[in-house]
Amino acid sequence: MADWDVAVVGAGPGGLAAAHAAASAGARTIVLERAEHPRYKTCGGGLIGTSLSWAAARVSVPARDTVSAITFTDRGRRAFTRRAADRPLLTMVRRDDFDFAWYQAAVAAGAQVRQNALVRAIDQDATAARVTLAGGEVIAARMVIGADGSAAITSRHVGVTFDQQDLGLELELAATAEDRAAYRGRVVLDWGYVPGSYGWVFPKDDQLTVGVIMAKGRGAETKRYLSRFVDALGLTDRPVIRDSGHLTRCRRADAPLRRGRVIVVGDAAGLLEPWTREGISFALRSGTWAGEVAARARTPEDLSGYELLVAERLGPEMAAGRRLLRLFTRHPRLMHAAMATPPGWRAFQASCRGELSMAEVLRRAPIRVAVGLLSGSA
Ligand SMILES: Cc1cc2nc3c(=O)[nH]c(=O)nc-3n(C[C@H](O)[C@H](O)[C@H](O)COP(=O)(O)OP(=O)(O)OC[C@H]3O[C@@H](n4cnc5c(N)ncnc54)[C@H](O)[C@@H]3O)c2cc1C
Repeated sequence: MADWDVAVVGAGPGGLAAAHAAASAGARTIVLERAEHPRYKTCGGGLIGTSLSWAAARVSVPARDTVSAITFTDRGRRAFTRRAADRPLLTMVRRDDFDFAWYQAAVAAGAQVRQNALVRAIDQDATAARVTLAGGEVIAARMVIGADGSAAITSRHVGVTFDQQDLGLELELAATAEDRAAYRGRVVLDWGYVPGSYGWVFPKDDQLTVGVIMAKGRGAETKRYLSRFVDALGLTDRPVIRDSGHLTRCRRADAPLRRGRVIVVGDAAGLLEPWTREGISFALRSGTWAGEVAARARTPEDLSGYELLVAERLGPEMAAGRRLLRLFTRHPRLMHAAMATPPGWRAFQASCRGELSMAEVLRRAPIRVAVGLLSGSA
């Protein structure tokens, strides 16, 4: 017999959005998290409009900055800045604050969140799924939602396969008063030395998050890119508050999202935008749908509604992102040139604000024609 209706493994945005939705729907919900909030997570903390609106409907978003200008650079050079005329493009959060706000919302909705609870194993039978903690305690639930990130044991249980893996490296730098003035409301995006890689500077009050991302397996080049980027920015002497790295993985389009009573969300499911590696909006949306579906589900088959939602709503966005990444990898300097054009900048703004998904951006007439020509298929 199950002690809980829904057990969630991992308390990042995906798991906490799932717990919030399941508990709000009246399900007896427990979350098992190996760390303790507020906890750091290597992440730019850039919320696109989709993430912001999803979060703002459910939590008080602890914004550190709102961004209306982007400086684009190509390997640290050829800088130009574009400004949004009216509304901001991005909202900056620190993940410890942001995830803590979700933790509080999940608890307020009635979920029990157990921290310092490392999940070691999962199994299931005809009556329940069982989650075993590091100390040996077993928790039985009718349904389990795997939200344990990019090295998830729930992904392995479900059999998720991935066709893209990247390594992100980030420095949290102490910002001087001049840095704060120079970067307030503005981010830097740099197109990298290795095709498909890029870097960013995201302002967070008294800190600057400087990061780069590149295909996994090129650790030395990724480190070199980060240090050249920091040099080019003139930030080499800033005190380093934190220096960390984290993997991102994108699912294969045909990879499973469910095995019996267990479904996976967010990074555990490899749900991430392949070009920008933006993942918070994917974690919040997939987590919320999973929580709602799992709260209602009486049999494992009832969970198939979740698979349909992901396929319909996130599948096309990931397919468009894969296409853009292929294009960006084949023509690395193209993005820099595209952002200098009015249609390129308009489309980029609309996608940052969440007004257009990546799939809709690629369907816009001038973009569709340009992408078709450059990809060799009009
Ligand atoms: C360098 C970098 C920069 C990024 N920048 C951005 C950005 O600016 N904007 C954006 O939208 N996305 C960004 N992303 C992606 C984003 O960080 C992820 O997509 C997002 O965190 C996914 O949320 P999640 O809840 O699925 O997983 P996570 O946030 O990874 O949460 C997983 C949770 O599970 C817990 N856990 C793991 N294993 C276990 C276990 N065995 N037992 C119990 N608990 C466990 C972890 O402690 C963690 O709290 C970035 C990623 C990287 C690597």
